[in-house]
Amino acid sequence: MRELAEIIDGKAFAARLRAAIAAEVADLPAQPGLAVVLVGDDPASKVYVANKAKQTVKVGMRSFEHRLPAATTQDELLALVRGLNADPAVHGILVQLPLPSHLNADEVIAAISPDKDVDGLTVTNAGRLMAGLPGLIPCTPLGCLLLLQDKIPDMTGLHAVVIGRSNLVGKPIAQLLLQQNCTVTMAHSKTRDLPALCRTADILVAAVGRPEMVRGDWIKPGAAVIDVGINRVPGEGGKSRLVGDVAFAEAVELAGLITPVPGGVGPMTIACLLRNTLTAWKRAAGAG
Ligand code: NDP
Repeated sequence: MRELAEIIDGKAFAARLRAAIAAEVADLPAQPGLAVVLVGDDPASKVYVANKAKQTVKVGMRSFEHRLPAATTQDELLALVRGLNADPAVHGILVQLPLPSHLNADEVIAAISPDKDVDGLTVTNAGRLMAGLPGLIPCTPLGCLLLLQDKIPDMTGLHAVVIGRSNLVGKPIAQLLLQQNCTVTMAHSKTRDLPALCRTADILVAAVGRPEMVRGDWIKPGAAVIDVGINRVPGEGGKSRLVGDVAFAEAVELAGLITPVPGGVGPMTIACLLRNTLTAWKRAAGAG
């Protein structure tokens, strides 16, 4: 009988990463600062922002929370972002998305100084990643890369298939894997015969947002499977539960390595946000 895949413990890895960041921050001559901007009362966003602030303080950084009413105007939000750009105590700026529908998120993101863009969402940082220049890399893709590098230090020549082509996840992951000398194929909703393509992947990254779309028989035996998806589905007793984009129970039988949901990629996102804030601090200090 085949052995089950090794399950990548993203929670433990993220905890180690945060501990390493905290140790580094403790030795800095000044504290890095992360500003998080939340507009409106979206309950999920409120939880994310509170969690980010808590983790920021835990690693010894300063957290600046800006909670604005849902009726905030575009000009007011842009003025806040410009103020944060100019504030020397702030090294990272994160505007929690989605914004209320009357606000133009693209314009707000474009207003963030690329050197403080710890979400890596500005066109400048996307361009730097594409060009292989130092920049700030979106947190979730960076988290996926760190998990993979830990298990597969040399990815040269491996075939990576990335399902999903969003600016937030799919495209940056594909760039990062290309930099690791993988041969990268990007798949999306118009890809033909996705199962057959996936069966050729040594590394399979699913960033789709469709619960358990990737079935066990899509997995090449021994492949590394990174599941970025976070999907809430009905569970037992009327409660909901989280599942990824990969049918875990099936895939674990075939894969060599696999991230679970929850507890895989998810915990890496905030840890990488803190890592990016530290990177931004170092660059501002001329040390990074
Ligand atoms: P988007 O909705 O922006 O992108 C989804 C991508 O999946 C698109 O490129 C789309 O293709 C592709 N897709 C949709 N249906 C199919 C299909 N049937 N076959 C193949 N490809 C398909 O999502 P995000 O990239 O923002 O997020 C993806 C997932 O990752 C979500 O579940 C999200 O919750 C999760 N996520 C998790 C994070 C974490 O911290 N772990 C952080 C961010 C996201 P097309 O372009 O053709 O429409």
